[in-house]
Amino acid sequence: MSTRTEPHVDGRREYCSACDERTLHEVTIEQTMRHGDATSEKNRKFSKVPRRKSRCKRCGTVDEQTVV
Ligand SMILES: [Zn+2]
Repeated sequence: MSTRTEPHVDGRREYCSACDERTLHEVTIEQTMRHGDATSEKNRKFSKVPRRKSRCKRCGTVDEQTVV
């Protein structure tokens, strides 16, 4: 077992279904703002939906999921 530490990793290692293995991903969190939705009084609590985007640095596949 080597004790070599990873030279600073720019991103996170996550599973990519396209690469079929764990690859480096660039992860960003976005607040999706919806505007122009006049009937959204009821939906106001849903108007800010944080989305977590992870982009595979190898193949560029973007995984998006809503953070609850
Ligand atoms: Zn990939």
